Amino acid sequence: MRRQRKTKIIATLGPASSSPEMVEKLYLAGVDVFRLNFSHGDHSDHKERVSIIRKLETELGRPIGILADLQGPKIRVGTFAEGPVLLEKGQEFTLDLDDKAGDPSRVSLPHPQVLASLEDGSTLLLDDGKLELKVTKASPTKAVCTVVIGGKLSDRKGVNIPDAIIQMSPLTDKDRKDLDYALELGVDWIALSFVQRGEDIAEIKKIVAGRAGVMAKIEKPSAVDNLDDIVELADALMVARGDLGVEVPIQKVPSLQKRIITRAKNAGKPVVVATQMLESMISAPVPTRAEVTDVANAIYDGTDAVMLSAESAAGDYPVEAVSTMNDIAEETELDSNYRIVMDASHASPEATTADAISAAALQVADTIQASAIVTYTTSGSTALRAARERGTAPILALTPSIRTARRLALSWGLHCVHTADAENFADMVEKACNISFREEYARPGERIVIMAGVPFGTPGSTNILRIAWVGEKTLSRM
Ligand code: PGA
Ligand code: MN
Repeated sequence: MRRQRKTKIIATLGPASSSPEMVEKLYLAGVDVFRLNFSHGDHSDHKERVSIIRKLETELGRPIGILADLQGPKIRVGTFAEGPVLLEKGQEFTLDLDDKAGDPSRVSLPHPQVLASLEDGSTLLLDDGKLELKVTKASPTKAVCTVVIGGKLSDRKGVNIPDAIIQMSPLTDKDRKDLDYALELGVDWIALSFVQRGEDIAEIKKIVAGRAGVMAKIEKPSAVDNLDDIVELADALMVARGDLGVEVPIQKVPSLQKRIITRAKNAGKPVVVATQMLESMISAPVPTRAEVTDVANAIYDGTDAVMLSAESAAGDYPVEAVSTMNDIAEETELDSNYRIVMDASHASPEATTADAISAAALQVADTIQASAIVTYTTSGSTALRAARERGTAPILALTPSIRTARRLALSWGLHCVHTADAENFADMVEKACNISFREEYARPGERIVIMAGVPFGTPGSTNILRIAWVGEKTLSRM
């Protein structure tokens, strides 16, 4: 069950991919973390998917991550009385709180906080940025607008407001219900959409209370402005290029992707690149050259994970899309230039024991050409610091916590194994050697580098570096 790559793959489950057979095929093709998109499907769909994944996990004996993605304060217009309307450039169009069905002159925008945040001159983007309106007369109950870019507008299309901080809770009533449900299902990660500031993350973390990791989706200009705060408070980040490309000029997406990855990587927090990575594979068995290059470039940027959305959730070729990502990741990581970029771009160790030991472990592993680094980790924090080094040697993260093992499935370079803590020094060495062999990371006669903490079983105590030979003796006891 060893993956031949360090970059991880996330695949969204949906109507095209939710049978037990399909989930297994996707896992075998390379999925490390499954995403449940709470913008679609009902609770029973998500429950069913979680139980399929957990059953597979037990059968295969490998920890699998589950990410629940909350819709967040996605703003939408209401419905129209007589089907879609055609908005002409230069015409007036009003958004208001009236819940009456819309017509060619107005439609409901059932979000009082949004109307309250608008000012004369604010820009509104509708339907993924296809239409643009400028507010000419803002008020708490309605916004009179001029159409800047016209087109067809239909029921419940999304509205993006790039240049305003909306005084809206980052969690809608639906999100709160979805969040409680997702936590009840025991998911490993919660992603929050349309995060605007660090406070938004603090608010959700209070509710989650450590039961899952919290991932901030960066898809608003305000989130980019507050990136440092968000990186500090979130447990992981997502470059959510879909909405980001509507909220900021689309040509800024590539540089923002690099900036977000660098900040997250330096902080030792996993980061995901998402949306349209293999978009054409929704309906074709092979991707475009541009898409293959985009996936590879995200990997050269040092991302922890690449993600599939509609390709795996609703496309015609979910398994092929995962295999394609797997092949691109394997090939890219073999490029000598990839290693040069990783070595040149990772952050220096901070002045902590965990960083000192991690950096030393990777250096020792390089010098003696060790087959793997084995780290004992309880909360996962030591393993994350080791991953942050973006080193050459594969890292096995041994943890007594299945939740830590699942959560770390998202992180670059970590192969997680759920196992009891080491009891003493001899046990630490023996277990590390046995598991490295069993998981196909080291053969007899090869060396591994072990990181652990003494006293054993004390979280946060990493203070030991030990080199061990994987020998006949250890193996004969297996
Ligand atoms: P979404 O998030 O698919 O939930 O909108 C990802 C994105 O916006 O890129
Ligand atoms: Mn989004």
